[in-house]
Amino acid sequence: MSVSSHELVTGLSALRLVSHVPVIAHVDVHAFGGLQGGAETFLQVMSNQVDTLVMPVFTYRTMVIPAGGPQNNGMRYHRASGDYSHAEMYDAAMPADPEMGEVAELLRRNPTAARSEHPVLSFTCTGIDAALRTQSLDDPLAPIRVLAELDGLVLLAGVDQTRNFSLHLAELMAERKSFTRWALTRDRIVELRGMPGCSQGFNKVSPALRGISRQAKVGKAVISAIPLRAMLRIVYEIIRADREALLCDAPACLLCGAVRSAQD
Ligand SMILES: [Zn+2]
Repeated sequence: MSVSSHELVTGLSALRLVSHVPVIAHVDVHAFGGLQGGAETFLQVMSNQVDTLVMPVFTYRTMVIPAGGPQNNGMRYHRASGDYSHAEMYDAAMPADPEMGEVAELLRRNPTAARSEHPVLSFTCTGIDAALRTQSLDDPLAPIRVLAELDGLVLLAGVDQTRNFSLHLAELMAERKSFTRWALTRDRIVELRGMPGCSQGFNKVSPALRGISRQAKVGKAVISAIPLRAMLRIVYEIIRADREALLCDAPACLLCGAVRSAQD
């Protein structure tokens, strides 16, 4: 039994979205177990519900590994010269990495959609794109901060908290270590500061967010809406109270390892 657009509308109504409240959405359209019309249906239904829709259209494949860089940077450098052979050169028309999902890429291709200019962590948006223009190479999370100031919502559709990119802003607010990375652009390799760490431990936050989240089931997927500002406040307090909160437990994780050793 596939899910109809009507069922999706019903599910989204339970989240009580308000048209003028901006939404940052993370969507796996396959999690519904067959949505009639797929990504196009999802985007159409969402666009009918909210005026401003923001989605990440990240392009990790532009990243390069140099021969050296800052200490405790959650990565291994190349010993001799940098290795740029696998990287693709960023340009503004570049499609999102496939793992960003079909809905995000479809939104990016909408002729009215804007895109921010970060070569790895760009966002696309229809509606009011003021948030996107705040992003810089040193402040990739700035659009999330603006969405929080506008009392925006995070929408998770068929994805878990590991995809909730806005949680990285709470880490930054709590002064958790961020990272330096590099990306290939048309004329040079750019240094990217304030890059967030690992999100594999983010599902640990779920119980703490239950009280502020609104949830519905659509087909096989859970969809939830989380007020950004309240979420950031809660997660900030969690990290301030426990410097290792929401880190992952994989012993080989260089990013979480770097955060832990930065605190020793
Ligand atoms: Zn990790």
